[in-house]
Amino acid sequence: MLGLRQLLRDYIWINVGNGMRTFAWFDKWDDICPIARMITPRMIANAGFSMTSKLAEVCEHGEWLWPDVWTERYPTLAQLQSVILDQTRQDRLEWKTSSGQSVEFNTATAWDAIRFRQNEVPWAKLLWFPQAIPRHSFLMWLLVQKKLKTQDIISRWNSSGNANFNLMCCSLCSSCPDSDDHLFFECSYSKEVWNGVKGKAGMADISEEWNSIFQYLLGISASDIAKHVITKIVVSASAYFVWEERNRRLYSSKKRKSSILVEVILSTVRLKLHSMRLKKSSSTVQVLQEWALPRGLLVADDDRG
Ligand SMILES: [Zn+2]
Repeated sequence: MLGLRQLLRDYIWINVGNGMRTFAWFDKWDDICPIARMITPRMIANAGFSMTSKLAEVCEHGEWLWPDVWTERYPTLAQLQSVILDQTRQDRLEWKTSSGQSVEFNTATAWDAIRFRQNEVPWAKLLWFPQAIPRHSFLMWLLVQKKLKTQDIISRWNSSGNANFNLMCCSLCSSCPDSDDHLFFECSYSKEVWNGVKGKAGMADISEEWNSIFQYLLGISASDIAKHVITKIVVSASAYFVWEERNRRLYSSKKRKSSILVEVILSTVRLKLHSMRLKKSSSTVQVLQEWALPRGLLVADDDRG
């Protein structure tokens, strides 16, 4: 936590009241603070202050009590806004955003201020959208970035020539080591799963090759119309449950048939759709029929959808 101090210091400000709780040299109560960046401990002691002096001890009626020679030596000090202490209230901590706005502190604001920023990747909205199922999005995030520990990657770690690495084979079809392309969804088992769900995803014409699926998804990733949101949910759920089945078979003898997995995927998506509110349009009515959902999920008229 202490290591974060430098990173956070510029955001944590004191809203000065009576100046009794604010450290004059170390706290951030003005743009040029902390003053300790300029003034040395020796100067502070020579002027009759201490390292723990509070703002109330160094300012009176809007005037600074430190020697004028400080300002001659550090002209920046002249830029300090004069402080009129308000005896009716205490100093309080506040969070200031990079744009200088005082806001109530919460972890989301803080994280947004200090995080490392990059341009948004083109597939961001494919994974993160309001109706997304977080654990499915996380799996997709690993998949899109080729971070899943598939057998083709693990076998590359085999610098020792261990023969066991050569015995690895896909737990779903047993025909070859698995890889991203194989599992999603070229493997004979995965392909049956994909063929079982793709119609419901509005992707009946899309082959089982990940590249075709991904390209299609990129085309609709930013869309928020119901059928495209459902497409994203179905593909993510399919990848998630195929990966789960693959792992389950590696560590136990339990196997589910591809038709069972299709049912698991579709019922998970259906359950998710139950929690959504769909804007009424001819295409959302069609969505409800396709998924056998009650019309109560429709909200006010809207031409979109
Ligand atoms: Zn396979």
